[in-house]
Amino acid sequence: MKNIILIAPPGAGKGTQASMLVEKLNMLHISIGDLLRNEVNKQTELGKSLEVRMQTGKLVDDEIIFEVLKSYLKDADLSKGIIFDGFPRNISQAQMLDSLDIKIDSAIYLDVPKSVLESRILGRKTCPNCKTGYNSNFENMKPKVEDICDKCGSKLITRQDDTKDVFENRYETYINETQPVLEFYKNKQILFNIKSLDKDEIFNNIIKIIDNTLPLEGI
Ligand code: AMP
Repeated sequence: MKNIILIAPPGAGKGTQASMLVEKLNMLHISIGDLLRNEVNKQTELGKSLEVRMQTGKLVDDEIIFEVLKSYLKDADLSKGIIFDGFPRNISQAQMLDSLDIKIDSAIYLDVPKSVLESRILGRKTCPNCKTGYNSNFENMKPKVEDICDKCGSKLITRQDDTKDVFENRYETYINETQPVLEFYKNKQILFNIKSLDKDEIFNNIIKIIDNTLPLEGI
């Protein structure tokens, strides 16, 4: 099975694509953001120390990210392939990932304009149970019953960092720290660029990348 990285600005749909991949291919979805939010929700010592930083949209220190990731990987079943969502987010994290015994097959960049990202972020709602994503700003992404998950019936939540001010910080952090990671994977010749706003089209392209049927220069 393949190991892939999803790289994209906030609101580009990494989480949505990851859930679709989990459903179709049963891959392991590793969202560092979700792992950190779990710590915050459980109010562990680590969680308490992360809360303010996460609410401002700044990156958490690399050392903490490495610890969280390594401890998660220890007990995880990696045999079905991994989707890294929101990691690596800077060059030093990319180098750290290189040093692990995990071969990355493709890094997939979801290229979405800032205006679209903002409107998605401000309408975004997520199921805390099954992680399905919804959006109240887009007709085709609303749940059937307001604020209730179509799949499991849980009450949907809005992330604390999905506000206009925090979005601006997160976007700036993305441009300054995460965008250079694209060059890192381009140099390794495993970077794919998907420029689409349609979640099914994006998904089909990701599947082709995983199946090795989409040439690098073809996107
Ligand atoms: P996300 O759910 O991926 O948007 O992440 C939410 C927040 O968690 C980010 O704004 C950061 O504060 C933190 N975070 C998630 N992943 C990382 C990472 N790889 N490195 C540093 N901070 C991260």
